[in-house]
Amino acid sequence: MSKYEQIQDSIKNLPFSFETEEVPLENAFKRVLRENVIADMDMPPFHKSAMDGYACRFEDIGNELEVLEVIQAGMFSHLTPGKNQCVKIMTGAAVPAGCDCVFKVEDSVETDEKHVKCTNPKTARNICYQGEDYRLNEVLIQQGTIISTPQMAVLAGAGYAKVKVTRQPKISVIATGSELVSPSEKPKPGQIRNSNTSQLLSQLHQMNLDVIANLMLVDDFKLLTETFTKELQKSDLIIFTGGASVGDFDFIPEILKEQGFKIYWDNTGIKPGNPMNFSEKNGKFVIGLSGNPVSSLAQFELIAKPLIYKLLEANYQPLRILGTMDFDYQRKKADRVAIVPVIIDERGLITEIPFHGSAHINALVNANALLEVPLNITAINKGEPAHVRPL
Ligand code: AMP
Ligand code: MG
Repeated sequence: MSKYEQIQDSIKNLPFSFETEEVPLENAFKRVLRENVIADMDMPPFHKSAMDGYACRFEDIGNELEVLEVIQAGMFSHLTPGKNQCVKIMTGAAVPAGCDCVFKVEDSVETDEKHVKCTNPKTARNICYQGEDYRLNEVLIQQGTIISTPQMAVLAGAGYAKVKVTRQPKISVIATGSELVSPSEKPKPGQIRNSNTSQLLSQLHQMNLDVIANLMLVDDFKLLTETFTKELQKSDLIIFTGGASVGDFDFIPEILKEQGFKIYWDNTGIKPGNPMNFSEKNGKFVIGLSGNPVSSLAQFELIAKPLIYKLLEANYQPLRILGTMDFDYQRKKADRVAIVPVIIDERGLITEIPFHGSAHINALVNANALLEVPLNITAINKGEPAHVRPL
């Protein structure tokens, strides 16, 4: 089993999660559901007309029919049309008792003011039957679902004006590196602009997560320790970028050890992006990402995202697509799972883009997916299947 697979396993088995809270339905979008959503009635709740037309008995379809009344959506007719009788009915209205067919307005002619005839003897029944979508007490959405647009509609339809969801964690982001300047500054010799924070905040945003603090610090052990312990007081999760490796000024692993954090892993087995740590102490969590932008992006997407979703108790399953290689991929060492930016097109063909490694974030501007190259695989040839993850 690769290190990367071991990490996925340990994420699944983490014993932690954030608490539940109740929010108004309108605030539930993109939150993680913490209850099963149960139907409090059949859907549709009554036999419903699927068309604007005339409700009658199907056996009378060839005959001239007397129109008894007009029923609008929201109305409930207490009439029971008999032989050669019908009611004019609108889409969404309850079909009266005794009727087993609605023929469309477009399939009708009025023979006089009170009578109508169907012009299509092969008409469909055009009735949505009571309970055909779901039944009373049915589970409509499973606990752990990340609420998206259809779920919002189903929650509303099932009367969930308030929804139990995982509370939003308090997250602090700390970019570390004495070479970093903010995007508004012109880097002096030896300096670079901090791009990881913008990248990371956008990744969190896609998960509907905000941060309570966003800091950029030089590689100073004392300063980093002080800031870290201060941020810990108010945060559930601290995400570092940079300083996660074994360089002389990579202080994050040392600080975590000194502060008594339990380190679950400190490398990932993916390339790019090997140095990355996850640790916990007293229900507070730390993720230490690489400084290299592509590494940090891949680590977040492949590891931090499923990890955070686990803490949120979400049933998160990243989309992976089985495409077909349109180029020959080769590598010498295959001791890690490789992540390669690529383009996948609508035919499922995977094409190469120029990519120089972990610092080359510009390459991803033109990519729409990450190719996964499994452990111990040195080549994937043109025409062979391969998995990609849409970006
Ligand atoms: P580190 O992980 O701290 O050893 O950094 C690895 C590489 O990533 C170095 O070349 C850093 O300059 C670069 N780097 C670190 N942090 C950032 C950042 N926030 N934005 C852009 N590049 C960074
Ligand atoms: Mg650094």
